[in-house]
Amino acid sequence: MNVAVLSGGVGGARFLRGLLAVVEPGNVFIVGNVADDIELLGLHVSPDLDSILYTLTDRADEARGWGRADESWRALETVAELGGESWFRLGDRDLGLHLVRTELLHAGVPLSEVTARIARAAGLEATLLPATDDAVRTFVETPAGTFPFQTWFVARGHSDEVDAVHYAGAPEARAAPGVLEALAAADVVLLAPSNPYVSIGPILAVEAIRDALERRSVPCVAVSPLIGGRAVKGPADRMLRRLAGGTSPWHVASCYSGLVDALVVDVADAPAELPAGVQAVVTRTLMTDAAAARELAAAALGAAGALA
Ligand code: GDP
Ligand code: CA
Repeated sequence: MNVAVLSGGVGGARFLRGLLAVVEPGNVFIVGNVADDIELLGLHVSPDLDSILYTLTDRADEARGWGRADESWRALETVAELGGESWFRLGDRDLGLHLVRTELLHAGVPLSEVTARIARAAGLEATLLPATDDAVRTFVETPAGTFPFQTWFVARGHSDEVDAVHYAGAPEARAAPGVLEALAAADVVLLAPSNPYVSIGPILAVEAIRDALERRSVPCVAVSPLIGGRAVKGPADRMLRRLAGGTSPWHVASCYSGLVDALVVDVADAPAELPAGVQAVVTRTLMTDAAAARELAAAALGAAGALA
């Protein structure tokens, strides 16, 4: 069975780890968000792809919740001493990956190929695909102005309320090589419990990807990133309240109108009323450990199986 998963960074990665425990990794095709990507200190950083890679190859720092385990920060200390840009936390080990990625990109290798090479070298068994090789970038409009995603998220601590989100470059963006093929070959499509606006949204903003999902002939199941109407971490609940009008399962499903057949929601959000054509699947969705993530992935696959 082939599974294609649209995913953001940390929340998506936790879910993917559970998925790889129940599906043969060689049959899992991850379509990752690249609209959080940023150029810093001359380096191309792809935070969501890297969160996925680190988590799935046991390199992630579980306690901190992002970045690499056994990390140190000496390079960044030097950057700060010298008055360079140090607001975006890049650890020493993490920097090594960005060096390799950036050099290949400068040599003209597309991001999808760069990602494949890095993933292979890191021992990732699943296929990790950037949604696009083109530069799609998220911008958030707030009462304090419009900011590039990482300026809002990291530098400003996502404290500004969001009035709108837009994805620069999306109208012209093509799906990266392998993405449409993975969606066409999938027996199930899953949307990870990632932020609908800034993680899944920019993937769906690539027209060819959205079209493929709209015209799907296989079940598509989303997993809600909210539990009891609240984000486990991050600004998803605040964004939903302001942009969708609420934080119920119905509001989460409204972000994926016409694209999903079922939404996996937490027991804390039941009973869930959902838009016509979307089934609710109620289970525990807090991924406290590997077993919980595995059970959540199994529930999402089970829902797809029941729909097929
Ligand atoms: P980012 O790109 O690193 O911000 O990560 P994602 O967009 O992939 O994931 C962020 C979302 O994951 C947040 O909205 C969280 O609420 C959600 N999340 C994190 N852990 C869990 C969990 O254990 N269960 C569920 N259902 N959602 C989670
Ligand atoms: Ca992200």
